[in-house]
Amino acid sequence: MKILVLNCGSSSVKYRLFQGAPDATSTGPASWTFVTLAKGLIERIGEPGGGAADHTAALQQVMGSVDLSGLRAVGHRVVHGGSLFSAPTVIDDEVVAAVEGLVPLAPLHNPSALSGIAVARKLLPDIPQVAVFDTAFHQSIAPDGVTYAIDTELAARWQIRRYGFHGTSHAYVARRTAELLGLPSDQANVITLHLGNGASVCAVQGGRSVATSMGMSPLSGLVMGTRCGDIDPTVIFHLHRVAGLPIEEIEHSLTRNAGLQGMADANDMREVQRRRAAGDPAATLAFDVYCRRLREYVGSYLAVLGRADAITFTAGVGENSPAVRAEALKGLSALGIEIDETRNQRGDPVISADGSKVRVCVVPTDEELEIAEQARNALEPDGAHL
Ligand code: ADP
Repeated sequence: MKILVLNCGSSSVKYRLFQGAPDATSTGPASWTFVTLAKGLIERIGEPGGGAADHTAALQQVMGSVDLSGLRAVGHRVVHGGSLFSAPTVIDDEVVAAVEGLVPLAPLHNPSALSGIAVARKLLPDIPQVAVFDTAFHQSIAPDGVTYAIDTELAARWQIRRYGFHGTSHAYVARRTAELLGLPSDQANVITLHLGNGASVCAVQGGRSVATSMGMSPLSGLVMGTRCGDIDPTVIFHLHRVAGLPIEEIEHSLTRNAGLQGMADANDMREVQRRRAAGDPAATLAFDVYCRRLREYVGSYLAVLGRADAITFTAGVGENSPAVRAEALKGLSALGIEIDETRNQRGDPVISADGSKVRVCVVPTDEELEIAEQARNALEPDGAHL
């Protein structure tokens, strides 16, 4: 049984073809094993000299280059599911219309997913297509965790609330952490730190998201490669009213020229660390701001959870930077969090010291695999599609 996973960005298409089979060694309901048959990335779509003229051409290229015999489903990554989608959803015309309705909430992201869905439905009309939303996992957060303290009518009218993102990654990593520690997934409390170009924290209680740092958009929360994370909203009024910057310019600055890029003129944590090691004060401050924000969120989510079994680092920075991991959790031994520096440097799956009450883990994320698993789960209930 094959599942094709598509992640369509505005100028790129990432794909991965899986072969799935029931896992003979396991007895759980969702225990399938997936093997990657093919994967690839088509970039700079629509640009001169780019990988393809448009999304249709890119997907034709993908589908022409892989063997789709035995294909049972296509899983699409969709960034924004608003308040409408709390689970992977088999796509029909109604679902497409609903995702179109959410474009104002995710103008940079949902349109490319929609074009991927449209083309895939046309090219593979008999194959069920499943939308897997970045926001869905966070729909379990209680109202007091997603409500902004603003005028209720304005919020309701304009769909203003916290949605949260990176849900597939947080869900996958929390589950893998529980497996790694030999805990039942529905009883494990895990704080997951997804630190890639975009970055977010999630408090996962028994497999359900109960708090997350991104908000209505992926701009809030942690310091990121080019995004500012949490700031006082007055910064925006001030830049507009006092500095005279147009709104578009402010948005560009806070999303593309902030975070590590804004503070240290480098969006890549490796470069920031190199310059910090060479004594560059801007890079040193950027690194410290980045890690302090992490520590503040960890403390906050420990309070939300009351008890944490583990803190797990994932994605590019989380999986590869011992320096960030050590600095982010520095000085927390009174809270039962202690890193073993040898394990941290090696990047072991468990990097906490033996006596650490809260275990600290490094778990590689795999969003495509999670999308494949969720697509399979979405089709399974009545077995009709498989
Ligand atoms: P995306 O969010 O685009 O999926 P990744 O999860 O791959 O990105 O994370 C990319 C980021 O990971 C890079 O910008 C870089 O800063 C960081 N990174 C990768 N390797 C290392 C490393 N060895 N040390 C520190 N940071 C790293």
